[in-house]
Amino acid sequence: MAPVKFGSTDIIAAYSRIRGQQRWFWANTQATDPARLRFSLAHELGHAVLHWERIADPVVVDAETEAHHFASAFLMPADEIKRQLNRVTPNLANLTRVATQWQVSVQALVMRAKQVGSLSAAEHAGVWRMLNARGLAKAALVDVHPEPPGVLASLLALHREEHGHDDAAIAEMTGLPLARLQDLMPSLFPIRQTRRLRAV
Ligand SMILES: [Zn+2]
Repeated sequence: MAPVKFGSTDIIAAYSRIRGQQRWFWANTQATDPARLRFSLAHELGHAVLHWERIADPVVVDAETEAHHFASAFLMPADEIKRQLNRVTPNLANLTRVATQWQVSVQALVMRAKQVGSLSAAEHAGVWRMLNARGLAKAALVDVHPEPPGVLASLLALHREEHGHDDAAIAEMTGLPLARLQDLMPSLFPIRQTRRLRAV
């Protein structure tokens, strides 16, 4: 997974595609809502698991809904969500506490709670009424910690430090121009290299 500037904070938070034998996930470094970014990445993972291998499968009716459902289930396991929500009143304080523990938005939790049967249709509607009445329907209510992707950077650092590949070789290997790598991982590909540093 690579962090990329998508050019806007507003458009989709993540994107994925197959390139040759490689599967790439792109995360928008400008996404301002970490909960949304996390959910979007789980959604892309859903496409990778559910859809990339069954290209000829005619059963996929709505891949977007499926990927969304996957993300929801992946980030909020049904049994745990039920166990935690079934014993508390679904007020804002309790929902925020559970959402914080799972590092998801309150809104995503509310939808999941209905899916798994922790909120009845009437309770679910009541929670949305409450959020709307307080102007919180789209608010970021949970302090979600951003999780910057690290595997690609450490993999490339390993190629350089341990295997002695230079920038040109790494650009060739990844299929990304050096300027792009400098943009993506400025600490690993400083624009002006005065001296090769070794990790200690
Ligand atoms: Zn999608």
